[in-house]
Amino acid sequence: MTENKKPVLRFAPSPTGMLHIGGARTALFNWLYARHTGGRFLLRIEDTDRERSTPEAVAAILNGMEWMGLNWDGQTVYQFARADRHRAVAEQLLAQGKAYRCYATPAELTEMREAQKKAGKPMRYDGRWRDCAPGPAQAGQPYVVRLKARQDGETIVHDVVLGDVRFANDQLDDMVLLRSDGNPTYMLAVVVDDYDMGITHVIRGADHLNNAARQLQIIEQMGWPVPVYGHLPLINGPDGQKLSKRHGALAVEAYRDMGYLPETMRNYLLRLGWSHGDDEIIPTAQAIAWFNFEAIGKSPARMDYKKLDNLNGHYIRETPDETLVAELAAFLERKVPPQILSAPARIRLTAAMPALKERAKTLVQLDQGAEFLYTDGVRDLDPAAAKLLTPEARALLARTLPVLEASDWSAAGLEQAARDFAQGAGLKLGDVAQPLRAAVTGKSNSPPLFAMLSLLGREESLVRLRAYAA
Ligand code: GLU
Repeated sequence: MTENKKPVLRFAPSPTGMLHIGGARTALFNWLYARHTGGRFLLRIEDTDRERSTPEAVAAILNGMEWMGLNWDGQTVYQFARADRHRAVAEQLLAQGKAYRCYATPAELTEMREAQKKAGKPMRYDGRWRDCAPGPAQAGQPYVVRLKARQDGETIVHDVVLGDVRFANDQLDDMVLLRSDGNPTYMLAVVVDDYDMGITHVIRGADHLNNAARQLQIIEQMGWPVPVYGHLPLINGPDGQKLSKRHGALAVEAYRDMGYLPETMRNYLLRLGWSHGDDEIIPTAQAIAWFNFEAIGKSPARMDYKKLDNLNGHYIRETPDETLVAELAAFLERKVPPQILSAPARIRLTAAMPALKERAKTLVQLDQGAEFLYTDGVRDLDPAAAKLLTPEARALLARTLPVLEASDWSAAGLEQAARDFAQGAGLKLGDVAQPLRAAVTGKSNSPPLFAMLSLLGREESLVRLRAYAA
């Protein structure tokens, strides 16, 4: 058997809600490191908490990962399906005297905690069954299995982000491995799964740092290799407070629906807690080449929506026109009700895309700018367009129409006709063009007008223009 020495990383979300951007960043960092090193990136759905795990959340996580472009290697592992294996490990620890049965009743435990609270002591299990063999009174009574953790010395988490973090072992009580119903605890499940999946690096949110100490105690008792740990500082809102719903959408899907591109999200989330000098624009291929643990920041990162918009504008401009049309099509199909782009609409959009993409920072804005190209018929006017279409402008529009109709409807032909007309009437081209633009696009701003008229075609353009000509 050849040993695989390459790093093995994982993302291990609990399916109790959407994929949040904090989780997405964790997934991204793991993915980047795996891709950087040629290692593997695994996905484990931690559905051990049966009451809080839902199939909708599993689907949202898988979709979110796919949308973010964070492909994982091999089959998705579902933690709950491995409960027998987790139990077997607890039994093994019991058999080796490294775990014990604790028969303390819930009432006893409450009493114990209350006494500790009263005495101003930290609330911890006091180890009352640690060295105590069950007697006849315990026969048939429910029990939990607890780890016989080392009580002296300290547990040190060697963290690639935070450095060495020390926990005095006498501060950590004997944690429960199996509940009284025989179900393994989350803490046990994580350790067993990480070991069985051959995980070499555990990179996750800083909220799991305390768990690392606990998990190390189990690893130590099992004599298993210790993974490399890295705990990522939190993401704060723009105001420096902990990120919450108050700061806007948190789920990756919401960012997708606000019109951000996956490439933008990868770049943005990378920069939330990782840096390469002052570089802001770091396309994914470059990120894979550069990513390391050393440059992960130690302090919480701060959301900056303006930066996100600017970055998205950049990637929209960088995206090839056909790809952007496909992105826009997918975006429209997700709308309620879904909008399906026709083949002629796609052709128009592709032709107009070089100009459209200059004007948009999100797919929502791109859609707003492009709508006049993929829907037919008379336009509703936005306020600025309505303002332009004064009675005089409408009269001018009416005078311009026959001139345009006599042209060959090519962009150049239309422009020449409009120019000649403007000159003859002692007007500037813009005076003639603005009412045309307002009527044909419903807006005061659009990609080059005559090219757009030509793209829309004679018939469709005339329907729109005639509606506002007076
Ligand atoms: N399932 C945990 C969570 O969603 C992560 C556990 C881990 O990464 O070790 O927060």
